[in-house]
Amino acid sequence: MVSKKMLDLGTKRSVIRDIFEYGSMLAKEIGAENVLDFSLGNPSTPAPREVANTIKYMVEELSPKEYNSYTSSAGNTDTRIAVAKNLNKRFATDYNENNIFMTCGAAASLNIIFKAIIESDDDEIIVNIPYFPEYKVFIEGQGGKPIFAKCSENLHLDIDEIESKINENTKAVLINSPNNPSGVIYPKENLEELAELLQEKQKEYSHPIFLISDEPYRELVFTNEKPEFLPNIYDNTLVAYSWSKSLSLPGERIGYILVPNKVKSHEDVFAAVGGAARVLGYVCAPSMFQYVIKNCVDAQPNIEVYRTNRNILFESLPKFGYTVANPGGAFYMFIKSPSGDGNEFCERAKKYHMLLVPGEGFGMKEYVRLSFCVDTEKIEKSIDVFKKLMDEYNL
Ligand code: PLP
Repeated sequence: MVSKKMLDLGTKRSVIRDIFEYGSMLAKEIGAENVLDFSLGNPSTPAPREVANTIKYMVEELSPKEYNSYTSSAGNTDTRIAVAKNLNKRFATDYNENNIFMTCGAAASLNIIFKAIIESDDDEIIVNIPYFPEYKVFIEGQGGKPIFAKCSENLHLDIDEIESKINENTKAVLINSPNNPSGVIYPKENLEELAELLQEKQKEYSHPIFLISDEPYRELVFTNEKPEFLPNIYDNTLVAYSWSKSLSLPGERIGYILVPNKVKSHEDVFAAVGGAARVLGYVCAPSMFQYVIKNCVDAQPNIEVYRTNRNILFESLPKFGYTVANPGGAFYMFIKSPSGDGNEFCERAKKYHMLLVPGEGFGMKEYVRLSFCVDTEKIEKSIDVFKKLMDEYNL
């Protein structure tokens, strides 16, 4: 009666959602202030003031037609020009509106890209571990095969491993830096090595291999590491961007796809992006938020609370004996379970009403993910819990 695949996807809830539901139930029992819920990646810092000011101006001063109407499917030209100018200023590029396709956030950007480039069910997309679990759903949903490549010990890209996964069916390599779940920012040399490898492999197989850069955390950086702008390192790069995290607008569904002119057959790729968005039913990105972005694209997120939380955790946890990936960005800490089993560590933490996400869903079952986009008070409370947990292993 209904598609088995869709039924499965609709009934099997994500582990993260399950933990979040459990946390909400626990909060009713013991009070929200006593639950250390670090499960969801929902930004805790408010959107910059410019966003509210723009919305106020929009509804008070403009006619509804100016912000409620359909836009062209790629988005308002003025918004796309504003996005292109912002990128040009920061990354010394020369984009214009014809390189930018406005979308309903990164999830939409990725699904559209996969739909646009996947030609047959043999097509493979290499996904680097650890990875955002929805990648598997998106790639399979758009008819491709996700092929997982393990990372190096410091959670950077393992270039030899990626090389071993590339074959004539490889359509793209997907990367995400700063990374969810590890917060790691891939260093320039690591990315340059990847670019070199992809160039060689494109020649060997005589077809383009895309690099898909999923960048919802590009603006959330806590150290002096700088996330590289991938199109400046590798020509066949497609960027999936979103303001869900950088402007704290996850519910507003707004992002873009960048198709630079240096991408092979870029006009066809851009047209296929339009076709894919059409098939997937994205008539256009929300026009109110296209208007907001036109006016707020240069606004800076206030990430001080994330930085404070990250510093407290990163200063304390290693002292207690935890192995922790160095989170240069995003708002996640990826912590190795002292027992080597992330599921077991999450269960133990529950006794102290601390909710973490097992690393299994991100491709590394020995780890757990902590989202530190929460009030600092909760992070401070968690330090004692981490100490007690480590003491339990040392008994
Ligand atoms: N990619 C990564 C790595 C993410 O962490 C998320 C959301 O958490 C997304 C994509 C989806 O973002 P959006 O809310 O913009 O669809």
